[in-house]
Amino acid sequence: MTVLVLGGAGYIGSHTVDQLIQRGTDVAVVDSLVTGHQAAINPQARFYQGDIRDKDFMRSVFQQEKVSGVIHFAAFSIVPESMQAPLKYFDNNTYGMTALLEVMNEFDVKHIVFSSTAATYGEPKSIPIKESDPQVPTNPYGESKLMMETMMKWADRAYGIKFVALRYFNVAGAKPDGSIGEDHHPETHLLPIVLQVAAGKREQLSIFGDDYDTPDGTNVRDYVHVLDLADAHILALGYLEEGHDSNAFNLGSSTGFSNMEIVEAARKVTGKAIPVTMAPRRAGDPSTLIAASDKAREVLGWTPQYDNMEAIIETAWNWHLNHPAGYADR
Ligand code: NAD
Ligand code: UDP
Repeated sequence: MTVLVLGGAGYIGSHTVDQLIQRGTDVAVVDSLVTGHQAAINPQARFYQGDIRDKDFMRSVFQQEKVSGVIHFAAFSIVPESMQAPLKYFDNNTYGMTALLEVMNEFDVKHIVFSSTAATYGEPKSIPIKESDPQVPTNPYGESKLMMETMMKWADRAYGIKFVALRYFNVAGAKPDGSIGEDHHPETHLLPIVLQVAAGKREQLSIFGDDYDTPDGTNVRDYVHVLDLADAHILALGYLEEGHDSNAFNLGSSTGFSNMEIVEAARKVTGKAIPVTMAPRRAGDPSTLIAASDKAREVLGWTPQYDNMEAIIETAWNWHLNHPAGYADR
């Protein structure tokens, strides 16, 4: 039986595909390459290039593969872009889920592990954020992902398609051998931008706001290593295969780092100065996001290996040093 990974050419998807293959799983990948890179896909996975919204294309994939479960990463995820172009997000993300669930139902595929996000919670009322806390997104990206969770809930009720929604906090790092890593265009995430400055590819970093109600005034975020995240997906599939009910889990470290603490840690790892200027707040940024992640540990048996920010940054830096132009180098 085969695990079908949607969005397997992307940052998190490519690391998950690689981990599945390392553990002996048969993997097929669907990706339109709209933001992903074919070179990121482990060559032992069978690759189908196409869009998950194209139901005939997806039917042809399900006809060729004996799919036991789906891991779904295929979505857009840039918050400021979603504020400017909300319908792009509801079309690709939310409609993409409608089409997928319809085809999964036709082919009697009953398990899906889904990339959800802390952005479904919006501005938290209390820290750390628990899975049972209210989900009130403050941007169309988070709303599109919450709608996808809701669709899966009703598809479970009607068709018995069981899901695990994994609500990621801030994902960082790369496979330690430097062979795959994060290569987004445009890059909007803090850590890769910090490392681009360290590598001399950007002149400086703008920190969006230093007047938040946090110890140093900059936003606080909870970082999880991409390989620990990949591991959680594999555990979630196993959880569904054991016959458990649908569920949702936060994936974070339960530790917060301010944006300035990330810069300081990156200065230590890279030995570079990393010049910083303060800039106005970025629209839609909650002050502090820290996950309560004990549920994933207790129920899925998730034991993250990376509990040290500098170790996470080292893996990302290794990717940057090996591939200064990202996948364009390959
Ligand atoms: P990414 O852009 O690197 O990967 C997404 C992949 O999906 C790309 O390869 C892209 O080509 C593909 N794709 C997008 N729409 C598609 C479609 N309609 N049909 C087929 N392929 C399509 O993003 P990522 O950082 O790896 O994130 C993966 C998932 O995790 C996203 O769904 C995102 O919402 C979620 N997420 C990411 C983070 C993070 O910090 N990176 C945090 C929370 C949630
Ligand atoms: N950030 C920043 N400068 C940048 C990019 C990001 O100050 O060039 C900040 C951003 O405002 C947020 C934190 O870094 O406080 C993490 O942002 P990112 O986009 O990496 O992830 P998010 O928390 O939005 O999912």
